[in-house]
This record gives sequence, C-alpha cells and structure tokens, in this order.
Amino acid sequence: MLQSVLKSKFGYDSFKNDIQKQATTAIYKGKRDVFVCMPTGSGKSLCFQLPAIMREQKVAIVFSPLLALMKNQIDFLISKKINACSLNSTTSSKERNTIMEDLMSNSPKIKLLYVTPEMGAQKHFQEIVTKLCKKKALSYFVIDEAHCLSEWGHDFRPTYRQLGTFKKLCPKIPMIALTATAAKQVKDDILQSLHMKDALIFSQPVFRPNLYYDVWFLETLDKPFVHLKNFILDALGPSDNSIPMHKRNCGIIYCRKKETTEIVAHKLTLAGITTLAYHGSLKAQERNEVQNKWTTGEVPVITATCSFGMGVDKGSVRFVIHWTVPKNIAAYYQESGRAGRDGNPAFCRVYFSNEEYGPISFLIKEEIAHKNSELAKIKWQDFEKSVAYCLETKCRHAVFSKYFGDSPPPCRNRCDICKNKDEVQARIAEFEMYQSTTKKFRNNIGSVTQINYNDNENDEFDESGESREKIIAVEKQERKELIMKQFALRRSASKEDKIKRENLEYAKIAHVRAADSTDKKIKGLTVQVREHFYNELKVALFENYQYSSKNNKQELQEKDIHDMTNNIEYEIFSSTKVPNKYKLDMSRLVDSHERYNRRVAQKLFGKASKHQI
Ligand code: ADP
Ligand code: MG
Ligand code: ZN
Repeated sequence: MLQSVLKSKFGYDSFKNDIQKQATTAIYKGKRDVFVCMPTGSGKSLCFQLPAIMREQKVAIVFSPLLALMKNQIDFLISKKINACSLNSTTSSKERNTIMEDLMSNSPKIKLLYVTPEMGAQKHFQEIVTKLCKKKALSYFVIDEAHCLSEWGHDFRPTYRQLGTFKKLCPKIPMIALTATAAKQVKDDILQSLHMKDALIFSQPVFRPNLYYDVWFLETLDKPFVHLKNFILDALGPSDNSIPMHKRNCGIIYCRKKETTEIVAHKLTLAGITTLAYHGSLKAQERNEVQNKWTTGEVPVITATCSFGMGVDKGSVRFVIHWTVPKNIAAYYQESGRAGRDGNPAFCRVYFSNEEYGPISFLIKEEIAHKNSELAKIKWQDFEKSVAYCLETKCRHAVFSKYFGDSPPPCRNRCDICKNKDEVQARIAEFEMYQSTTKKFRNNIGSVTQINYNDNENDEFDESGESREKIIAVEKQERKELIMKQFALRRSASKEDKIKRENLEYAKIAHVRAADSTDKKIKGLTVQVREHFYNELKVALFENYQYSSKNNKQELQEKDIHDMTNNIEYEIFSSTKVPNKYKLDMSRLVDSHERYNRRVAQKLFGKASKHQI
C-alpha cells in the first residue's frame, strides 16, 4: 500500500533507506509519537508527507523554521499534485481566507499545512487547531528541524520551544519530530519539551563511510591557497560533459565571516575555479541567484557563511571545506554531512586557522565574562570539543559516533588519523610550535590588535594591489569591529566589576604563576599585563634559543621554554611592588633578547628577519 503510493504519487521506486521505510510505516499507523533522526538528505520529509496524503479529510500541521524550507517543500508537493500550503507572515489575507475556509469546512482538502513556530505561538492559531482537533480533522503534528527547540542545538529558536503546547491542547494527536542532530542531549530535550511519551525512535547510524575526513593547519602550510586549489581539483575530478549539469561534482567552502567568503571566492576564481560567495549581506535576490547557479551546476563551488545549507539538497557535493574552526561538533557534523549524499566518495576537510581560533575564543570568552550565562559556557565547552577534534589524534569518525552516543565505527582509513596517524601528529606538532611562538598568537591572548586570518604575506594567486588592499581593508575592519565590541562591552559593565571578572577569566587561562598562590601581589598590575610580558619574553627566548642552537632545535620542548619564561617572569614579579618597575624590568629584558635576536638574524640572513615583524 505505502509502496504503491510512493510510486504513484512521488514517483519513487523504493524507499531511500530502511529507516525511511520504518519511520513512514510507523507514522502511517498513526498510533504513537515518532522521533526520526537521520542525516540531512536522507529523506525525512517523505516520512510524514506520504502518510499525510493517505489520511482522508485530515490535515497535518507541519512546523518548519524557515520560509525558504517551507517553500521548497510546498513547491515540491504541489508539483506532485498534493494539496499543501503555508500560513506565515507573508501569506496574503486572500490566501489566508481560502485556507481558513477549507480548514473549517466539513471535508478539508489540505493535506499538509506548513506553519512557522511564531504562528504556532499565537492564541488565534491555537484556537483553530483546537477546533480541527475537535472535529477529528487533524492527522498529526510535525516538528521539522526539531533541534531548533533545544538550547543544546545549534539553531536555537525560542518560539520552537513552545510547540509542546499542542500536545497539551490535543493529547491524542501524534507528534512527529524530525532532526538531523543526533546529540543525546538534544534528543532528550526534544522528547521532553514536546511532551512526547513513549515515542518510537528511528535513527540512522552516525557513521558515513563514504565521507573522508581530515584536518590541516593554515598557518603551517607553505601556500594555503595552492593547497586549497589542489584539493578542490582532486575532489571535483575531471569534468565530464556527458553528465547533466546539475549532477556534476561540486563543493561548499564554509567561512566564518562574510568578507572571507568573498576573498576566498575571488582567489579561487582567479585561479580558474569559478566560485561564488553566499552570505547574509547579499540582497535576497542576489542570494537566490548565487544559490541557483550553484544548484543548477553553472558554478561548481560556493563559499558561504553557515547561513547556507539548510535544506540544500544536492547529491553530488564532493567536498565540504571549513576554512575556519567549526563552532561545535554537531554543527560540523551536519555541515560537512552535506557532502556525498549520493553515496559516492566525498571529502570533508577543516583548514584550522589560528587567526580564526583567536577571535572566536575571544568572543565567546567575552560573552562568558559579561553575561556569565549558562549558554555561553556551553558554547565554550562545545567550541573546545571542536578544537580538540582538530588538535587530537582520534579517529574523526569515532569522535562523531562517540559524541552522538553511537558505537565505534569501522573507519577503515576513512580519515587522516586512521590512514596515517604519524603524519597527522607531525602536522599538529608543527602547528602547536607555531602557535606558541608567533606574534599573532601573543596578540590574540594579550590584546586584540592583530587579527588577520589571510596569508597576505603569501598571496600566491594574486599579487595585484587591488586584492591585497582589499584583504588589508577587511582585516582592519575586523580588528575595528572587535575593538568596538570590546569598548561597547566595557561601557556596559561597571569598570571595577569588569576588571575583577576579566582578571578571574584570564587567570584561568594564564601562563604566569597566580599571585594568589603566593603572598606576592603588586597592586594595580593585572594578570593580562603579566601575560602580555610573559608572551613577549617567551617568543624572544624561543627565537634566541633557535638562533643559538640551530642544529638541535628538537631537543628543547615548548614546555621548557614555558618553564624558563615562567621562572624569569616570576622572579621579576617578586622583586618589586611597583607596577611600573615590573613593566620596565620586563620590557628591558625582552628588549635585550630581541636586540640579540636581530643581530644574529642579520648575521645569518644578511637582512632583517621576518620574525621581528
Ligand atoms: P532530509 O529532510 O532528511 O534532509 P529530504 O526530505 O529533504 O531530506 O530529502 C532529500 C532528497 O531525497 C529529496 O530530494 C527527496 O526528493 C529525495 N528522496 C526522498 N525519498 C526518496 C526516495 N524514496 N527515493 C528517492 N529519492 C528520495
Ligand atoms: Mg528536512
Ligand atoms: Zn578514522
């Protein structure tokens, strides 16, 4: 029965997968609440669309977070001659009247009514639903993208949380919740806040063996854009004109900032890979155009902020790149999971960047310091897990499975760690060395003055002044934004409070020895200032060491340099009670080392060393 409607109405020969079949059958039976968790693209919509059309004179109420998502589904259903429509803020009053007339008639024809959660929160709408319920004209409630109701989820929408009301209004009507987010906390949250009792749960294994995962570090690559370009060319493979355009291989590059989407798109296009940028500052029409060109295959690569992708349905995505640090594991799993939906091999890569790590962690820490909210703390923990994903040598697939509470997957070399752990370990070590020695890193900790996440020293593709200027302008802008934000936050908090809290926050991550643990204190000297000098000194010492022992660099560990710096700093700290004396002594010391380094560098290279900056 289901099978025949699947063919006659939707034109599919079979269910897309077992879970789809089981979930559709359970929803068709219509007795119990149902929770469906499957990766994006596995066909969750059909699970509620198919049974909905088989209910005579009953309508399914579908809550969906985005107008664009609703529109896609409704267009699709209408193309299959299925009666579906939507009530939202853009519905004209004429349409609204037609819909209401149908719903209130004795035999409603609408099978699926799509509604925003905002509409769902309105008393008026709830009254309509109660009426429908009374006259037995409701098939069930559907909460699509149900993770939106959870604060643990990554697209939290407060109005979504109120949808549980409908279970109270109509206790006998089944609730169907669907999501691609498999995190246990999210799932529990969904079941609880929708008051779903004894729900049937269908979920797909987290492991997707056709996806290959790896991580690279931008700052330690010789030519990051060449690296990126080669990876893309490999992933896309040779172009095959016999394949219809919309099915040709394509890819997505996620960036944190809209400016970066433009820079990366520009550079790739110059390098011969046509790429368009997609972000929130484009006009709606431009955004649609970009998305269309990508969907139809006219443009193979899109750079985008995370606003892109919900509801994107393209099987031939051969790669998903994160040109940044993913916000959290759940979002990364979902975003990268847009690759390889056709089941063919595809690649998911993070280009971890210190210059991205700095601002992201800074912003979250600021949020914690100022709002001190649970949410900000969760955000930080989530971010730390994502950083650990990049900097630890655990099977990437295993990290996902563990995070989502699934059993360990048989990765079989479908990630860089399982394929060659030593090589990845070496990459990470090199990156950590870089982190602990660069000026950029110091500044990220000490003060936010230098955030440039592009390799403008290394502009391999384009030496034209225009592009260079653009990058510099963007960097300046980003710095300015961060600093302005800081100022705004400063103004809003009482100054003393703020300093105290900031001190506390910094103390947690500081490298210098806490004054509290000894009887030493210098009134008016903050942990940040000490941390700043600590970093200055550490870099100077490190370079010093590098120059003086060119041949046995490996012997001294990062930790040794830390210990050394830490001891010297503490000695100076303990020798005075006057902040300015401390500062003077520290800068003299740093200066003397830097001078020495410059002299050696000049001797060695015959010109000013790059490290001096
Ligand atoms: P999800 O909500 O899980 O992200 P969708 O419901 O948007 O996934 O479906 C993804 C794609 O799979 C859509 O293009 C849809 O038409 C297609 N699809 C769904 N079920 C089937 C099926 N049984 N056979 C073939 N294609 C299907
Ligand atoms: Mg969906
Ligand atoms: Zn693995």
